[in-house]
Amino acid sequence: MRKIFVAGLGVAGSSLIYLASNIMQNNVQIYACDSRITPWTHIVCGELVPEVSCLKGKVPEQVYDYLTYSQKILMENTRIVRSFNNMIIIIDDLTFNINFRFYMIDKSLLIRNLIEKSERKCDLMLGYSAYRYDVHKNFMRVYLRSREGHKKSIDVDIIIAADSFPSVFYSSDIWYMLSESKYRYLTCISCIAEMEQIIECPTIIIDPDICPGGYGWIFPRSNDVANVGIGFLTENVINISNMFEKFLRKFNLKRLTKPLSKTLPVDGIITSSVHNIIYIGDAGGFVVPTNGAGINPAIASSIIALESKLDSEIFNEKVRKVFGDYFNKLVKLRKIIDKYLIDKNLFKSLVKELKRGKILMPLFRKVLSDLMLGHVVPMYRIVIPCIDSLVTSLKFPRL
Ligand SMILES: Cc1cc2nc3c(=O)[nH]c(=O)nc-3n(C[C@H](O)[C@H](O)[C@H](O)COP(=O)(O)OP(=O)(O)OC[C@H]3O[C@@H](n4cnc5c(N)ncnc54)[C@H](O)[C@@H]3O)c2cc1C
Repeated sequence: MRKIFVAGLGVAGSSLIYLASNIMQNNVQIYACDSRITPWTHIVCGELVPEVSCLKGKVPEQVYDYLTYSQKILMENTRIVRSFNNMIIIIDDLTFNINFRFYMIDKSLLIRNLIEKSERKCDLMLGYSAYRYDVHKNFMRVYLRSREGHKKSIDVDIIIAADSFPSVFYSSDIWYMLSESKYRYLTCISCIAEMEQIIECPTIIIDPDICPGGYGWIFPRSNDVANVGIGFLTENVINISNMFEKFLRKFNLKRLTKPLSKTLPVDGIITSSVHNIIYIGDAGGFVVPTNGAGINPAIASSIIALESKLDSEIFNEKVRKVFGDYFNKLVKLRKIIDKYLIDKNLFKSLVKELKRGKILMPLFRKVLSDLMLGHVVPMYRIVIPCIDSLVTSLKFPRL
């Protein structure tokens, strides 16, 4: 019997133990831990997911199939808090509408259901953090520590790292690779807030002054309460709380819960160089690089792990082919627009040019909507630099 250890029971880890306990039956012994005694009570998320069927033809076919299966698991295990038919993107005083179906889901219920449905078949260690591992000839040893300081170790065949980004299971090779490639990640801070004015659909705010390199969001749960937050490229901001307060003030939002922060990888798939370690969810970079969506991709990564029969080499090859190629294209597109999200002057030039250019506006609207939905349009490799040169040329006198 193979022994697997799942570190972290967020969306990725809980969906993995749920699927593994259903599919793998008696030929596997599952151990799982989470730093928190109740992993479902610490939600740092906008909880917004797209209706996957609307992505048909927009994302690669295999990605679409995995996301469709993820949505099925999601819908069987949670409730929809609210449905929306469009999203608003605010750029300065310009407003863009994206017609698309989105759901706000109850992520806490999702994680709780997935854990409770699998707990009889797993050995759960809630309140235990994994802090180290050793590779031995025929097994891996994982070291755990409880909040009270109680320590133990477990010997297993396979480790599934689902402990978010950065994972404690990153090897020195991976650290080197991430630092050499200047792998980008966002620092996010979010909470539930009361809104002074009614906002009826999910709203994204692009503003380098408040969230350099990222964006802010207001996702309404009801007429007066919303999931709100900001995400920004980490190297750009020093005081996270001040930035968040500035955002809350600007949009007349009153905190109802304690703001929680978390890092989010947005530079593509990360695979383990150590045999028998598999990174899923945020630990494996399963987040759409242009919009930060990671709920469905996290479940998809669990599905692929099980399809690969928990063989790390098969898993790595498959995720690089399916999600890796797709995310790399999005990363390239995002890198072209990143400077507008960071540099205030360039951002101003963009807004100015959008207001002036009758042709630019509809084109920009389409590019923006596709980037927000993670829709790869190969032609954008040419179109975005054209928009880019038009806007950046404003820095020089026009002839
Ligand atoms: C502010 C914010 C808003 C977001 N909004 C959206 C959204 O609206 N829609 C969307 O699709 N995606 C969104 N995302 C992304 C999405 O939340 C994540 O991609 C997804 O939840 C990843 O799931 P995960 O299981 O990999 O990680 P997590 O959900 O972070 O779970 C990791 C788990 O591991 C545990 N853990 C951590 N370290 C250890 C350790 N050493 N030992 C044991 N356990 C450990 C943690 O307690 C946690 O339970 C958002 C992310 C952030 C930060």
